[in-house]
Amino acid sequence: MSAPVRSIAVVGAGVAGLATALACARAGHRVQVFEQVPVFAPVGAGIQLGPNATRVLHSLGLESALRAVAAFPSELQVRSGTDARLLGVLPLGDRALVRYGAPYATLARADLHQLLLTALEAQSQASLYLGSPIDAAQQDSSAVQFSTADGMVRRVEVMAAADGLWSTLRSQVLLDTPPTATGHVAYRALLPQADLPEKLRSAVVTAWLGPRFHAVTYPVRGGAWLNAVVVVHGVGDDAPDSWSQPASADAILAGMECAAPLLRDGVQAMGAWQSWTLFDRPPLRSAALMAAGRIALVGDAAHPMRPYLAQGAGMALEDSWRLASELTRSGANVAQSVHAYANARWQRNARVQAHAVRNGEWFHSTGLRATVRDAAMQTLGMRALDLPWLYGYRA
Ligand SMILES: Cc1cc2nc3c(=O)[nH]c(=O)nc-3n(C[C@H](O)[C@H](O)[C@H](O)COP(=O)(O)OP(=O)(O)OC[C@H]3O[C@@H](n4cnc5c(N)ncnc54)[C@H](O)[C@@H]3O)c2cc1C
Repeated sequence: MSAPVRSIAVVGAGVAGLATALACARAGHRVQVFEQVPVFAPVGAGIQLGPNATRVLHSLGLESALRAVAAFPSELQVRSGTDARLLGVLPLGDRALVRYGAPYATLARADLHQLLLTALEAQSQASLYLGSPIDAAQQDSSAVQFSTADGMVRRVEVMAAADGLWSTLRSQVLLDTPPTATGHVAYRALLPQADLPEKLRSAVVTAWLGPRFHAVTYPVRGGAWLNAVVVVHGVGDDAPDSWSQPASADAILAGMECAAPLLRDGVQAMGAWQSWTLFDRPPLRSAALMAAGRIALVGDAAHPMRPYLAQGAGMALEDSWRLASELTRSGANVAQSVHAYANARWQRNARVQAHAVRNGEWFHSTGLRATVRDAAMQTLGMRALDLPWLYGYRA
């Protein structure tokens, strides 16, 4: 039996939507992507991709495109955020490649987005419609129907809702409540390393753990730029649609009680910070929260998560690969394929969501708990940091 060719609408052209569209187009399906913004802006700062995620990019034929824009740090260092003491080291670089068969990469989100976009634009059976919000869809036993901004009514066999954290399609399909504020605020900045003093430049991933805050720095763009993220406990009262806004170094430092001098210098030196109020949802509890009938939820629309395991985009990439694989399986109808996708993905995503929450609590420990954490990390070393269940996974 030959593999079926499906007509697929993908709503949203972030990492999840573009990767889903690309995976489906490469598998021979006819794909239309609808994105609400008329022009892409370089949203976000850096992204770490574990071997589980870069494996998907390699499978999509993007190995050399990734190599051209990413950095491949040799190790992850975990340091005390208050006195800069080294607490643990996880070798990445060649070790990740040998152990997991794919690299640990760090790159600018805009570069990841662009490499997916370039690859998608080269696919003749894929079309991308910008300035095209899709706010509603109906389905029956044979198709999903929706209207586009120009008033046209379209019917497709399958819809992938990849419309992000504030997914309107999710709220329709699942009739559930919006994401909730975590009470944490992330600040991100990207800067050429040449603009930083020597002591602040870095070729490795460094995580700094402090009381009620943590910071992460890593190189991107072949090592020429440095990305920094600081997360502090805040009020979390930004309006939901103001995803990112400028922030001052002083506001960030106010949330970093007794931060190490080197870390404080770094916050001052990075300059152009943007703030993100962090929202999430509880870990998925069933496959029914990832799909309904012919509509599959992908990426943040399905499982927004705290960034403390650096896996939101990674899970979106895994979702995209799995959805395309299920839709390409011969002998299954569309609803069965969509259900098989949700069934295959929900527990994995739930585990990553839950682990990210625990990591945040661990990272931001105070008092005795922080002392125990630091001692455990120094004793266990690499064993506390390597996560074979996460990095060794094949979507
Ligand atoms: C501080 C921070 C650090 C992070 N670090 C990492 C990391 O290191 N590693 C990692 O893997 N992940 C990380 N993430 C998570 C990662 O950025 C997200 O999980 C990922 O970008 C989600 O992609 P998405 O495509 O699902 O959603 P989005 O990127 O939000 O894309 C959704 C798209 O849908 C469009 N859209 C919305 N509504 C509609 C509509 N009605 N019609 C049409 N289009 C619509 C939007 O315009 C947008 O283009 C981090 C997140 C944060 C906040």
